[in-house]
This record gives sequence, C-alpha cells and structure tokens, in this order.
Amino acid sequence: MTGSGARPQQIDTSKAHSARMYDYYLGGKDWYPVDQEAAEKVKEVFPFIVTGARANRDFMHRATRTLATEYGVRQFIDIGTGIPTEPNLHQVAQEVAPDARVVYADNDPTVLEYTDALTLSRPEGKTAYVHADLRHDAVLESRELRSTIDLDKPVALSMLAVTHFLPDEDGPVEIVREMVQRLAPGSFLVLSHATPDFNPAAEKAVEVYRASGTPAQIRTKSEIMRFFEGTELIEPGLTTTHRWRPDGDSGITDADAFFYAGIGRKP
Ligand code: SAH
Repeated sequence: MTGSGARPQQIDTSKAHSARMYDYYLGGKDWYPVDQEAAEKVKEVFPFIVTGARANRDFMHRATRTLATEYGVRQFIDIGTGIPTEPNLHQVAQEVAPDARVVYADNDPTVLEYTDALTLSRPEGKTAYVHADLRHDAVLESRELRSTIDLDKPVALSMLAVTHFLPDEDGPVEIVREMVQRLAPGSFLVLSHATPDFNPAAEKAVEVYRASGTPAQIRTKSEIMRFFEGTELIEPGLTTTHRWRPDGDSGITDADAFFYAGIGRKP
C-alpha cells in the first residue's frame, strides 16, 4: 500500500480499466481510447449503463448526507472510490459536517494520479488516500487510515459499485464481512451492486467487461443481501439506487437503475 504521491505502477493504456470506463459513462475526461472503445461496446449492448452510473453516484450523495445528518457519522471510508467526480464523498460529508474525516482507497493507478482532488479537505476535517487492492491489502490497518480514522468509534464504510468486480472465487462476501467485523458497534456498511434482476441484458455488459480483461459478476437481490450479514438494514432496506430515500422523482425505472443499494448498521 502506498500513500498519495507515490507511483507504484505504470498506467496501462493497452487495456480498458473499470475506473476509467466509469469516468467515461459519467462524462469525465480521464480515459484513454481503449476505455472509450470498451465503454461504447457496453453502451451498445446495455445503454442503461449511463443512467445507472449517475443514479449510483446520486445514491452516494444521499447516503452520505443521511449518515452525516441523521446518524451523526463523522468518519467515512470509501473503498473502490473511483476517479474523482465532483462532488466527491468528502465534499458531501464536509458540507454537512466540516470536521468529517474521510479515507479513500482504490487499486487503480489512474485514481492514484488524482488524489489531490480527493484529499483537499476542509481545515476542520481530514482526508487521506490509500492505494490498495481490497482483495489482498488490509486497508483498515494501513498507516494512512489509522492516522485519519479512529476505528474504536463508528464509521461508515462505503463500497459502491465495486464488489461486482469481485467474482465469487475472490470471496467478496467474506472480505466485506471481515472488514465489518473490525468496525466499532454503530458503524455502517453502505453498498451498491449491479444486478440482472430487472434487466437480464445487464449480463451482456458483464461479458464486455470480461472480454476486455476485467472480471465481473453481477448478483441477484438475495446474493447481494449476503453482504449485509451481521448488520441491520436501515429504511428503506435494499432497494434500487433511485428508490433509496429519493429527493424527488428521478424519472427512472428499476431497469434503468439496475443497481441495488442499501445501508446496514452494525448493532
Ligand atoms: N465507488 C465509485 C466508483 C465505482 S467504479 C462510485 O460508486 O461512484 C469501481 C471502482 O472500484 C474503480 O475505481 C476500480 O478501480 C475500483 N476497484 C475495482 N476492483 C478493486 C479492488 N480489488 N480493490 C480496490 N478497488 C477496486
């Protein structure tokens, strides 16, 4: 694991990366032709990808705001954070609570290039970035995290649109469970995950990811529920992203959203 500023790996522009493809869907500018090509193929077989990515991002905003406002959360850990897209999680949290402390983690060297945007904290709060692979690295034990977050106090651990990049053989449910076990009582798990439940064509998008070298596995509602074992889902439970405490009518359907999202509280 490396702190911000380090350059552990070269950026590989010969192969599409999920972080850069996601940035492409969101209308960002941090992608290469190889990402554009793969992302366009996904859009061809599954045009809902763009709406789904935006609805997922909007869920992150509402979830973070809800936790900071209604549950008093002041510590956030965001694993698989992605290329910065404003507003980033710390901007949402610090708008409500300027003293909020946020640690980001991702394993993509492109994200590492942009940590400046992720670590520009308000002076009352603190932010840090950990370059880490959630499959192998003990993110919660990292020096950067320990100097920012007090794990004896409640935190919100968010894993948004990331565990569907971990096929079952990586043991994603067990990885998440172990992390939640390490958290203080009263902590929260915020998770979103792509599903074929409303739109089986989503499997076609998965095939494009696999063919471009990114393993992925989308899951049904009951499979996604397993990530929340050991927590109690807060209202409204596990729903599609746009139905989770909506601000208004998003105008989209479950098939457009194709992501489940929920927040579990550790008793
Ligand atoms: N969480 C953001 C971005 C989702 S895109 C959001 O919901 O808006 C998925 C991100 O997960 C990418 O940035 C990708 O690099 C990261 N990722 C995928 N596998 C990972 C792993 N094993 N460890 C850490 N990050 C991972």
